[in-house]
Amino acid sequence: MLVGVPKEIKNHEYRVGLTPDSVREVVAHGHEVVVETNAGVGIGASDADYEAAGASILPTAAEVFAKAEMIVKVKEPQAVERKMLRPDHLLFTYLHLAPDPEQTADLVASGAVCIAYETVTDQKGRLPLLAPMSQVAGRLSIQAGATALQKANGGAGVLLGGVPGVAPAKTVVIGGGVVGAHAIEMAIGLGSDVTVLDRNVDVLDALSARFGSRLKTVFSNRAALEKEVLAADLVVGAVLVAGAAAPKLVTKEHIKAMKPGSVVVDVAIDQGGCFETSRATTHQDPTYIVDEVVHYCVANMPGAVARTSTYALNNATLPYVLALADKGYAAALRDIPGFLPGLNVYKGQVTVAEVAENLGYTY
Ligand code: NAD
Repeated sequence: MLVGVPKEIKNHEYRVGLTPDSVREVVAHGHEVVVETNAGVGIGASDADYEAAGASILPTAAEVFAKAEMIVKVKEPQAVERKMLRPDHLLFTYLHLAPDPEQTADLVASGAVCIAYETVTDQKGRLPLLAPMSQVAGRLSIQAGATALQKANGGAGVLLGGVPGVAPAKTVVIGGGVVGAHAIEMAIGLGSDVTVLDRNVDVLDALSARFGSRLKTVFSNRAALEKEVLAADLVVGAVLVAGAAAPKLVTKEHIKAMKPGSVVVDVAIDQGGCFETSRATTHQDPTYIVDEVVHYCVANMPGAVARTSTYALNNATLPYVLALADKGYAAALRDIPGFLPGLNVYKGQVTVAEVAENLGYTY
């Protein structure tokens, strides 16, 4: 199969669909890869690196789309990219169609076969192609929080781990899923005093087994949440209710009553956020202050570490890319358990029930 990798064009998107190492694997499976010039600059991969891995470099996205049978990307195709899709194209990337009627209409009109990373599941119903980005965001949340706690950034001037003779800062993580577990790992690593709240006892059980006495686990209800948040120096919001907006667990009143100079990092901001005072921010201007509490609410946190994020994403996507190229989409979707839910648009048909219902397509 001829696999094409265009350069990402969404604002401040530095990741790339395939790394040179992934290209080498695809080529070793007997396929041809074309890469748009400079597609990898954001992760430090040059055109020469791609050529050494066996790819051919093309000067424009138009030529990549014109030549390729399968397009591998990171972000949803932008309007100009969607115009280049053909009925014989196979598109494999993040799509996030539910809130995006324009993109959905264009993908339907294109006649292409479109598979979204974010709806591929594994045998346990988890989301293996979304998990790497949650891992990155979880780990980054503690770096962001620790930086915001510094005096010059509006924080209380507190070092997360303290020093001998000075107690560590208190980190509270709300939601102990993928983001939460990775935030906990980093916070414990830095020597913080860490508490996690979750409303699923099985999640608390697993975290307790994993981190032992270095982590306090608390069942999440209103009273417990209020007590922990008001005592915290750093609160990480990492809840997810599948298919729904994030619940506003921390209220305006809680924020007002928190310690001056404390920090909240709302990782769940991409689902609307779990702090009532949250609004989405950017990497250029990541924080703002409400009632002396520093808020970090960047909606695309993995973009800050594009190189790590690209490699983590490729580790997860490559087996699927190889299966699609080796067997074709029909056999790959049929043979790999949990791959079929990844199919979002098939030759003019929306194939995800929630998207079809939300946006008025027959399903
Ligand atoms: P996950 O499903 O693995 O974990 C979510 C956890 O929240 C679960 O353990 C669940 O039991 C818990 N939860 C739900 N309601 C709760 C409540 N009321 N109180 C306490 N816990 C509750 O999800 P995840 O992969 O860890 O993702 C978490 C959030 O981070 C999602 O909204 C995701 O979209 C977001 N995210 C954001 C970025 C970013 O760049 N900002 C990047 C990756 C993920």
